[in-house]
Amino acid sequence: MSAVAFENNDELRELYRELILDHAKSPRHFGKLEEMTHQAQGINPLCGDKLTLSLAIDGTRVIRDIAFEGSGCAISVASASLLTETVVGKPVDTALDYFSTLTSKLTDADGGTENVDLGKLRALEGVREFPSRVKCATLAWHALRSAINEHPEPASTEQD
Ligand code: ZN
Repeated sequence: MSAVAFENNDELRELYRELILDHAKSPRHFGKLEEMTHQAQGINPLCGDKLTLSLAIDGTRVIRDIAFEGSGCAISVASASLLTETVVGKPVDTALDYFSTLTSKLTDADGGTENVDLGKLRALEGVREFPSRVKCATLAWHALRSAINEHPEPASTEQD
């Protein structure tokens, strides 16, 4: 990435589009963990996105490792991939801050509140304009919350 300031929003949007395509094409942390402590499924029946998130959370409540597998549209896969990059090595409470900030940014009418700096996750903010895709973008995040809370049911976008 160059240090040149963005000329305009189109340039920023293009960068975000490329970031999403890159993560959709080459998802990070894709697969299974050999040793996991927490796991949850996420299902978005409207789009057909389905993923399983596995976490290794240590005694100090830090996410030591994370992986996901499954299939879905580019947005759902990119979001899961960005999720793994964002929360690995972080305390579960911080991971939940990312969850609440991202979901409020995407769904709250007033534009949401920011408890943490979203960083790269800002690339997902564009889906706000497409309500049906918001479920694709938040699927992995709902699965993350379910896994952390040890919720036995799959996280479905058609509940809650
Ligand atoms: Zn989708």
